[in-house]
Amino acid sequence: MRKLQSFFVRTYGCQMNELDSEIMVGLLEGRGLVRTEDENQADLLLFNTCSIRDLAERKVMGKLGKLGHSLQNNPIIGVTGCMANAKKESLFQKLPHIDFVLGTNNIHELNHVLDEVLASDKQIVRTDEQFQFELDYLSAKRDDKVKAYISIIRGCDKFCTYCVVPYTRGPEVSRSPENILEECRQLVSKGYKELILLGQNVNSYGKDQPEWQCRFHDLLYQIDKIPGLQRVRFMTSHPVDITKELMEAIRDLKTLCEFVHFPMQAGSNRILKKMHRIYTIEQYLEKVHMLREIVPNVTLGTDIIVGFPTETAEDFQQTYDLMKQIEFSVAFLFSYSPRKGTPAMRWKDDISEEVKQERLQQLLSLHDEIATKQRQLLLNTEVEVLVEKHSSKDKALLKGRTRCWKNVVFAGSEALIGSLQKVRVHGFNHQTLMGTLIASPEENSPIFSKATERNKLQIV
Ligand code: SF4
Repeated sequence: MRKLQSFFVRTYGCQMNELDSEIMVGLLEGRGLVRTEDENQADLLLFNTCSIRDLAERKVMGKLGKLGHSLQNNPIIGVTGCMANAKKESLFQKLPHIDFVLGTNNIHELNHVLDEVLASDKQIVRTDEQFQFELDYLSAKRDDKVKAYISIIRGCDKFCTYCVVPYTRGPEVSRSPENILEECRQLVSKGYKELILLGQNVNSYGKDQPEWQCRFHDLLYQIDKIPGLQRVRFMTSHPVDITKELMEAIRDLKTLCEFVHFPMQAGSNRILKKMHRIYTIEQYLEKVHMLREIVPNVTLGTDIIVGFPTETAEDFQQTYDLMKQIEFSVAFLFSYSPRKGTPAMRWKDDISEEVKQERLQQLLSLHDEIATKQRQLLLNTEVEVLVEKHSSKDKALLKGRTRCWKNVVFAGSEALIGSLQKVRVHGFNHQTLMGTLIASPEENSPIFSKATERNKLQIV
């Protein structure tokens, strides 16, 4: 029988995957295994994969393919995450040296599957379509000591035509409010200052469980009452499900940060329809205006895909114009790549790579212009920073984020990590603001005024 004393985990993709890895690390450590950063020393190698883009999949397949030739100590190799759900047992054909495939809805079975592999030496697959069991979230082994991810809803019911998530993570399943609140309270009592609520579409929270009478904004009001909690964020949202009640919660709740990820995806109604985004650009803009009216100067983030099948120069121009009009502070910009198993796969990927890259570059330049203008407006203002860690580039500097998700670095002592600090912005470098420590707001008032940073940013 193969021995099992140490493990190595590599995580690809989104924050949901990071949290799933933290839960699996907790399960493995609970079993007595020791984590190692050296894959050559580990008895178990776990690859928590992502399927959202072709490149992400190719990276993992390349890595796993190489392992088949390089490892001498015959470790157990497991593939988890979205690729596990998407490819299931077909992974064994391409990668005969892997031992198990465990889908996103089965991570609670990790230790059982390991026992089976050890006892039988057979390849095992567990990939349920739907998430059914409460996970032991409390056992998650978190690397970060200041901010923590909390899963509140898993899966997605939206079926955008380009996206694999509804097929890899299954339908929406909300987690009970009691369970979420218990985890939040425990994390705050351990010293966590910022909680980031996660889901493919957090705004759908509670829709699948009407008897709970607890929608997303209701949950936020309850979390806000936890003593000692400083900040709450959430990601990600579908514009259709962003409600007026949620906007009012952003305005009223002291912990809730004024940053909303509001994925637009495209600026042309024809393309939005083809993407099955179930809103028109007029409806999208109406929500953006309503949000900015209720929460003046709220900061917005977005996702945009260029080069979707049949996207004309005119469609792209509409996307460009809207991006210019809305002035998103944060933009995740992608060129389209077809994903197996999605409806969009039926259509010809008819926009050449050259045109996709040209359009992508245009949006990147526009975003750079907008972000630079916004950073200039912050010069000589004071911002509230939650100090997260040392800067990776210079250990004498600390790094943190403002309420509106801007990176800030400044000189300060390690003891400030985990505290809220007031910083005067005196410069910026690419995406990072540089500042000077002023004083700790925690000494006088627990939280800055919700408008402190936003008042300086006249982005409408
Ligand atoms: S909302 Fe659309 S893009 Fe987002 S996870 Fe669901 S199907 Fe994918």
